[in-house]
Amino acid sequence: MAAARANGPTEVNTMSERTSGTDTGTGADTNANASTDTDTPSDAGQFASEAGQFGSEMSGETVPYGEPLVEIEGLKKYFDQSSGLFSGVSVDTSQFPPISVGEERVKAVDDVTFDIRRGETLGLVGESGCGKSTLGRTILRLLEPTAGRISFKGEDLATLSGEDLRTKRSEIQMIFQDPQASLDPRLTIGQIIEEPMHAHGMLDDEGREARAKDLLERVGLDPHHYNRYPHAFSGGQRQRVNLARALSVNPDFIVCDEPVSALDVSIQAQVLNTMERLQDEFGLTYLFIAHDLSVIRHISDRVAVMYLGNIVELADKEELFENPQHPYTEALLESIPVPDPRETGARGVLEGEVPSPVDPPSGCRFRTRCPRLIAPEAYEWTDEEWAQTRAFMRAVKRRTFEPMTAAELRADFFGGTLPQGEPGRIVEEAIELVATDHESAAEVTQAGQQGETATDGGQATAGGGQSRVVAWNSATTLLLESFAEQSICARERPAYEIEPEYGGESHFTACHLQR
Ligand code: SF4
Repeated sequence: MAAARANGPTEVNTMSERTSGTDTGTGADTNANASTDTDTPSDAGQFASEAGQFGSEMSGETVPYGEPLVEIEGLKKYFDQSSGLFSGVSVDTSQFPPISVGEERVKAVDDVTFDIRRGETLGLVGESGCGKSTLGRTILRLLEPTAGRISFKGEDLATLSGEDLRTKRSEIQMIFQDPQASLDPRLTIGQIIEEPMHAHGMLDDEGREARAKDLLERVGLDPHHYNRYPHAFSGGQRQRVNLARALSVNPDFIVCDEPVSALDVSIQAQVLNTMERLQDEFGLTYLFIAHDLSVIRHISDRVAVMYLGNIVELADKEELFENPQHPYTEALLESIPVPDPRETGARGVLEGEVPSPVDPPSGCRFRTRCPRLIAPEAYEWTDEEWAQTRAFMRAVKRRTFEPMTAAELRADFFGGTLPQGEPGRIVEEAIELVATDHESAAEVTQAGQQGETATDGGQATAGGGQSRVVAWNSATTLLLESFAEQSICARERPAYEIEPEYGGESHFTACHLQR
């Protein structure tokens, strides 16, 4: 809804709206930045050919503006990693029996619940690999859901199949990230736009051509280029062709999967503006997937933040940007580059790697990277003691400090005074394990090199370097098991809804800090 987007960034809003159809630019707005997890032509072709009947039969009018058009409940999409003769077979000689058979499942989308209201743009943001593209494809049934409900206009898509599903898909379309790869180079853009209409028996030849030319004009291209091939168009123009193709069957709902991320920034603004105008003209509802928060801020009415298969925060755009409540959202917002030459140093860089979705962390999935992990209740802490211990634990886990003596470690991480009681005793034990007081320089250097690649604490052998690795791993295990694993963040998955401060009807955030 245009009114709700009025506060988008001015540098984007003021850019020119319409591109010239004669611009066949081969320059900056090409798809050089396309990531490898994007769509293939077959994705696009499959979906286009599977779109259902012409959208004039849509029942979109039955869902009033602002009411849920799409409702997602407990949606899961797991991928089975195992394949081949010995798939799922693992050998562990330390246990009996040593051979076990189990399934390794990538939990790409895990128990996701939200709705998308008619006429809105719901932005879906998160780091690469967080599951947002998988979520978009699963909603469209391009991927089969593992569990959960996907309701479109009150009808459960997850239970539809065959002709019923094909028919329903006429009302739902998708725009893919890579405008080059999603257009068949052997077809003219006129044929590309007419393809879905043709597949679903919509109009006659003349009618389809007239509609394709009309759509070309509406998306900002010259209808006289109806007979040109995709290679004659720039990246931004190709994405406009994709828009025209998606609109050809008059859908209600479009999933836009990183539609501008492969484009130059100035071209992004033009395509986004066109998408906003088309949304008003055609009464569209968008699920807009992106990793770029400035793009999300420009186009969204509400924003959902995704991390490792879960939605961790969802709120109206202004509420989310002005009053973020989840530490992951805060970190994402802080990582937006500031165009200020006086700004120096790293801003809120997210530490560590995203954990594997095969074996995600228990409780809150962000806990292994969260700078605000909650202190375990078993001990009495001051805020300062916990902050120092948490910093030390993370540094040991990631081996981010130079070799130091025990006294130097105490001074560096704790200002010379360890926490009181049992936590202090545990910290002291860990310090003794990683301190260099009794080690030779050669051992420390070797341990540092090996420690970078070590993954467990087993297989201790004689030799200084190896024993140092074992000591580091022991210190890591001791600290994590004593503190991190005892936190409520590790024990319980958070779920919560809070009162919004900056407008909007609801603000969801999944963090124990809001309890
Ligand atoms: S639940 Fe705990 S680990 Fe998760 S975001 Fe909140 S404070 Fe951080």
